[in-house]
Amino acid sequence: MKKIEFYKHNIGEEEIERVSRVLRSLFLTTGNEVEEFEVQLARYLGIPYTLAITSCTGALQLALLAEGIGPGDEVITTPLTFIGTANSILMAGAIPVLADVDRSTGNIDPKAVERVIGERTRGIMPVHLYGQMCDMDAIRVIADRHHLVVVEDAAHSLEAEWNGKKAGHCGDYACFSFYATKNITSGEGGAISVKDEGKVELIKKLRLHGLDKSAMDRYTRHFERYDVDVFGWKYNMDNIHAAILIEQLKKIEALFARRVEIYQRYIEAFSKVEEIELHTVKPECTHACLVFTILVDASKRDAILDELQRRGIGVSVYFYPLHLMTFYRERFGYKPGMFPVAEEIGERTISLPLYPKLTEEEIDYVIDTVSDVVKIV
Ligand SMILES: *Cc1c(COP(=O)(O)O)cnc(C)c1O
Repeated sequence: MKKIEFYKHNIGEEEIERVSRVLRSLFLTTGNEVEEFEVQLARYLGIPYTLAITSCTGALQLALLAEGIGPGDEVITTPLTFIGTANSILMAGAIPVLADVDRSTGNIDPKAVERVIGERTRGIMPVHLYGQMCDMDAIRVIADRHHLVVVEDAAHSLEAEWNGKKAGHCGDYACFSFYATKNITSGEGGAISVKDEGKVELIKKLRLHGLDKSAMDRYTRHFERYDVDVFGWKYNMDNIHAAILIEQLKKIEALFARRVEIYQRYIEAFSKVEEIELHTVKPECTHACLVFTILVDASKRDAILDELQRRGIGVSVYFYPLHLMTFYRERFGYKPGMFPVAEEIGERTISLPLYPKLTEEEIDYVIDTVSDVVKIV
């Protein structure tokens, strides 16, 4: 029986060799490999600085903290995202306020954002869903008008562009994830892009207990005394993960090109199937092709998920809207019907395998099987 995994990573011999070199060296924690990765990632994005963090969730939290956002403040985000997005706002001590999404893309709707801006609003956290960037022009205009910080959740959109610009250009910060199923991965990991040089040292402190010297600074030549003048967290990436990511980043263009090919094949095939609806991609956007989703009849979605898995296809749901998770319902009193567009997408969406290691035969099998299953279920 065929088994097409939902995701397969692309760690190769280059990553394994580089990690081996780090493991044989003196320095395992944050050091030269991390610095090298940060330089390469900043170059790739065309942004002055990036800092490596242990997760995207932690990076989002640190971006808010670097702007002094905390208790009493509100940050606007989307209900149609991974729970980590909203949790990062709570982790900073602030309150997530949700705004419904655009029906055609699933991305946060700038008009809905404007409707929930209030006295306490300090920031907007747009999520570039599936790899398609939000309307960053509209979001920037709203943010400037109301003096809000824009922290982009770019976990899906490392390669994505909005009018030729990658994440982190329109926003004040963009946060990236290198979690196991993301476009490039080190198992776990994240990064934050920083445009304002004045925030770099602060975020370096915030990611390591507020220490004013890194382990490299403290131990490279002779021991140096350190001080702590702010409260910080423990989110510094180590050289081992950075070694993997340096090699992953070298392969990004080739991996992305293959993703685009597979994505196009899916679009072409599924746009001909009456039972399937697809999200639209805006002309301003270069899609990062992280997640491929189809929309089916809500009353059949779960049966289709079951049948696809029975036929050996790994599937997922991106996302069950976060406001309907028990914790968020109980804490904030959310109920079904409050964000109807996100809820509709959440009830109808199915994500299919999309990664460079898929073979032509596997792609054909996914296309044929999905096209068949949506008709007979
Ligand atoms: C994966 C993901 C995150 C969390 O990333 P971590 O690195 O696991 O913290 C946040 N937001 C979105 C949209 C994601 O898909």
